[in-house]
Amino acid sequence: MGRTQLKAQPRSRTLLVVDDREANLVAMEALLGDGDWQVHSVNSGEAALKALLELDVELVLLDVQMPGMDGFEVARLMRGSPHTRYTPIIFVSAIAHTRESVLRGYATGAVDFILKPFDPQVLKHKINTLLAHEHNRRDLQLLSQQLDSARAFNASVLNNAAEGILVVGEDGYITFANPAIAEMLHTRVEDLQGTLLLAHLAAPDVTAPWRESAFYQHWRSGSTYRLHEAQLYKGDGTTLPVALSSSPLPRQQRSMVVIALDMSVVRNLHVQLETQAVTDSLTGLLNRRGFHQALESALARVDRNGKRMAILYIDLDGFKRINDSLGHDAGDEILCKVARLLETCMRPYDIIARMGGDEFTALLDSLDHPEDAARVAEKLIELISVRHRVDGTEVTLGASIGIAHFPDCGQSVDELLRSADMAMYEAKRAGRRQYRFFSAEMNGRAHARLMMEENLRSAIERNDFELAYQPQIMLGSGRLRGFEALLRWPSDDSSQVEPGVFIPLLEETRLIERVGDWVLREGLNQHRQWQKAFGEDLILSVNVSPLQFAKAGLLDSLKRLLDEYQLAPSQLELEVTEGTLMQDLEQSCDKLSRLRKLGVRVAIDDFGTGYSSLAYLRHFELDTLKIDRLFIANMLDSPRDAAVVSTIIDLGRNLGLEVIAEGVESLAQRDWLIANGCDVMQGFLVSPAIDPAQATAFPTQVQWDAR
Ligand code: C2E
Ligand code: MG
Ligand code: MG
Repeated sequence: MGRTQLKAQPRSRTLLVVDDREANLVAMEALLGDGDWQVHSVNSGEAALKALLELDVELVLLDVQMPGMDGFEVARLMRGSPHTRYTPIIFVSAIAHTRESVLRGYATGAVDFILKPFDPQVLKHKINTLLAHEHNRRDLQLLSQQLDSARAFNASVLNNAAEGILVVGEDGYITFANPAIAEMLHTRVEDLQGTLLLAHLAAPDVTAPWRESAFYQHWRSGSTYRLHEAQLYKGDGTTLPVALSSSPLPRQQRSMVVIALDMSVVRNLHVQLETQAVTDSLTGLLNRRGFHQALESALARVDRNGKRMAILYIDLDGFKRINDSLGHDAGDEILCKVARLLETCMRPYDIIARMGGDEFTALLDSLDHPEDAARVAEKLIELISVRHRVDGTEVTLGASIGIAHFPDCGQSVDELLRSADMAMYEAKRAGRRQYRFFSAEMNGRAHARLMMEENLRSAIERNDFELAYQPQIMLGSGRLRGFEALLRWPSDDSSQVEPGVFIPLLEETRLIERVGDWVLREGLNQHRQWQKAFGEDLILSVNVSPLQFAKAGLLDSLKRLLDEYQLAPSQLELEVTEGTLMQDLEQSCDKLSRLRKLGVRVAIDDFGTGYSSLAYLRHFELDTLKIDRLFIANMLDSPRDAAVVSTIIDLGRNLGLEVIAEGVESLAQRDWLIANGCDVMQGFLVSPAIDPAQATAFPTQVQWDAR
């Protein structure tokens, strides 16, 4: 695994000849000059040492006796220097040697002795052999240097790796551990080495013997084994979540390398993310998902010894207004405040959640009596339905609460929540700031409602609605005054759902806004086409729901539509009920006067049935009163109803308003109305609401033989 390859060094094959006598040097050069080497000669020990530093000398032929520094001294100094420690030296001497001096020569590092006169061939052989040795030595030295550096490199990789690395023998014992794994497990490398790998594994719990373990089995088959969710014991007995991989090392090593990744950070992140996923970041309560989970586990461990559980579905009344008028920050503040109020009402083991928007839920565990839930609901309504200060402004809030009990109102999480939601809805319908228990009858109603709501939505998508037009006739002359546009929802089986049934639903679901826009556009479009047939005096009456009337952009969209269809504003009459106008008197007055300025007519529909708002009537800028058909139906039999009708007719005359009688079915009724000075009639006597083609063919003047 070394990073440097063994590279043979260029052979220098340089011989250094050291002799103080010039003649000897010349002779030696002549002798050795034809060899496969270079000869460098110097004439003193000092010069030899210098040359050794400068040149890459592979062999030294050294004269023993030299003035000054002799051969022994040179050899001694050479052996002392790392650079020349192993450079082979052949001592060359002319004098006969004592055994002692030869030994001394060897002791100082000579590898050979040669006496003059010598056989040049022998010397050359010796030189060749020694050079070969020297080359081998140098190669070996290089190799071991490279091995050392490779080993150091590998060790530094293992020591500095951030992941834990273990080498485990085929017997399951750890033979190597790097510092990272020791650090991860708060232990020492020495305490890991020589121990069983499986002894450190807290999870999965491997009880089988080593040779049956997945580690060993994978090693046997030569494949890598990965364990994404494992736990290792730490030194202090606690555990560390890790991801492990175990890969076989080359066969002859008979071991595997196990790498351990510290997963605690990732795991903590998971826990954190999971917490975030179940809590509502604004209020810190559980969110919808969290509540589902909590309810689910509560149902799983529900105790069946008589104790009950209740779900409260809480919806704030008037929150939308605060949010719209004071802004989202104020809205958020209110929601947090409500969350804290909820907490004060609950016992510590009750669970509270914010389901989204201004909807909260609570799970009341272990109730002794069903009424206990009602008590909590009452207290909540009382606490929430007060004036709150937000952003320096006082706002009024309320709460409507639905209660569903387990197991009576549902067995599953979804059923219980749906039941509580339905009950909440009933509480709202009943006039807000109330609570309602869920009942089976509620369920049936809600079910039908749900289905119809669904159908209505798809009817809007598919543009299934139609308009029918009921003629309005001037009582005096029998002339056609105009048509009232009435919404129709034909269904596939040619039956009709009554507007009295589906229109309130459209209003509750706010779908009326979209449908209402369509009615206006469709009605005006039709009206435009009638211009030729009926002239410019014809009036189209369009019913406007409270939501539509309250909308800020109503006038602008009316202007745009009238422009688009090139109709005079006075050709359009909006029918609103008393209830619509009474919702916000100030705004109604303002809107009515702007409609008056624009020139669009306004009629009060179903007049007489709503609020006794006669006192306000003077303040409203109106054009028409439409007497509710109930009075017309009864007026001939009931003096009281007759009195109401004639009073309304008088009132209209006094206030300068046109009066229309609705639901006129008989000639007798018509004549009574004429006699009492009513202006206009509408009813089956003349015509029910008819389709556009029939309306187009309707005469501008009906045969009117009034008595
Ligand atoms: P409304 O505005 O009071 O409409 C008059 C209702 O009386 C119509 O019922 C009409 O068919 C019915 N009617 C007319 N003449 C007679 C009669 O001689 N005898 C009897 N028994 N009934 C008669 P319809 O069409 O079922 O509409 C019911 C209500 O639905 C309307 O009452 C109106 O409040 C609402 N509505 C209808 N169309 C729309 C619409 O486009 N938008 C809105 N917001 N509401 C609408
Ligand atoms: Mg009407
Ligand atoms: Mg009416």
